[in-house]
Amino acid sequence: MKRVLITGAAGFLGSHLCDKFIDEGFQVIGMDNFITGDLKNINHLLNHPHFQLIEHDVTEFVKIEGELHYILHFASPASPIDYLKIPIQTLKVGSLGTHNLLGLAKAKKARILIASTSEVYGDPLVHPQSEDYYGNVNTIGPRGVYDEAKRFQESITMAYHRFHGLETRIVRIFNTYGPRMRLNDGRVIPAFIGQALRGENLTIFGDGLQTRSFCYVSDQVEGIYKLLFSDYVYPVNIGNPSEITIKDFADEIIKLTGTHQKVIYKELPKDDPLQRQPDISLAKKLLNWEPKVSREEGMFKTYQYFKSLSKEELHKSEH
Ligand code: NAD
Ligand code: UDP
Repeated sequence: MKRVLITGAAGFLGSHLCDKFIDEGFQVIGMDNFITGDLKNINHLLNHPHFQLIEHDVTEFVKIEGELHYILHFASPASPIDYLKIPIQTLKVGSLGTHNLLGLAKAKKARILIASTSEVYGDPLVHPQSEDYYGNVNTIGPRGVYDEAKRFQESITMAYHRFHGLETRIVRIFNTYGPRMRLNDGRVIPAFIGQALRGENLTIFGDGLQTRSFCYVSDQVEGIYKLLFSDYVYPVNIGNPSEITIKDFADEIIKLTGTHQKVIYKELPKDDPLQRQPDISLAKKLLNWEPKVSREEGMFKTYQYFKSLSKEELHKSEH
């Protein structure tokens, strides 16, 4: 059996990747320090014969006994309120953490895929964003801790590929959503659904004319899986090109949840990108991949998940 190490395993994407690799017949080692993750996301795997959990901070030396064939490095705070709260850890997990995992990959002769982000494009001046766009990032702004950690992560990964001949893959993930997102992670989908469920007004930041393009988690996981087993070492965008303004998205959530609440407007966070939409031509050509789940279907499933949470969890998520 092939062995795969998944960092950030107790998080949203990491836990879905653990499920995927178990389903595909891999031996999965999940690693997490639980800084933004939750054990409940992988509870169902704890007694699985092909799953092992290691509680560890990847910014410290990472040791794995025995053979290792693949590494997926997904550990990192991922939502703006998380990385604003823990900026130094965010920089460390993208830099020191990635360095440790590249070192491990080299020692084990494993192939490594790292989770990069559309945030490497910053507040983009090119629309939609394709992989050859270098981006527009404010290095010293509050979001810089995340964006620059991810840009460094891409650079060091390419250096290990070029200098050590390591087999590397880089996925640039665009806004992804689905069950197991944390209700209080501050990202727009858990924020709006949580507000609707608690009977609060939905908070739109800025004028709501900024856009995002939301990808359902099963599509994202499929794209990542295909990229890992492709031959392509340069970054590949994985996301859903269906773009919507935050204002229109709030209206969709009001309809979906049937809430009688209204929207209220709050200040736009600094450096919040005005527009974001992936150009996925490369993924289509290379991986024969494109998203299959519509926003309507994906949001319905996501709403069902949040609705199934206990009242206690729902109210824990109030800020
Ligand atoms: P998440 O917060 O749900 O998961 C991240 C996990 O990493 C958590 O379980 C956390 O405890 C763990 N972690 C953080 N620092 C760690 C450390 N030093 N050592 C060990 N574990 C650590 O976030 P997510 O949405 O699942 O994101 C996962 C990855 O995907 C991140 O690298 C993120 O940058 C990337 N990404 C996600 C999105 C998205 O829309 N979800 C978009 C772009 C990129
Ligand atoms: N947003 C909002 N209200 C909220 C949370 C977020 O209007 O309660 C906006 C946010 O300013 C951004 C968009 O929704 O323009 C997406 O935010 P999110 O944090 O989900 O992701 P990111 O900004 O990283 O794409």
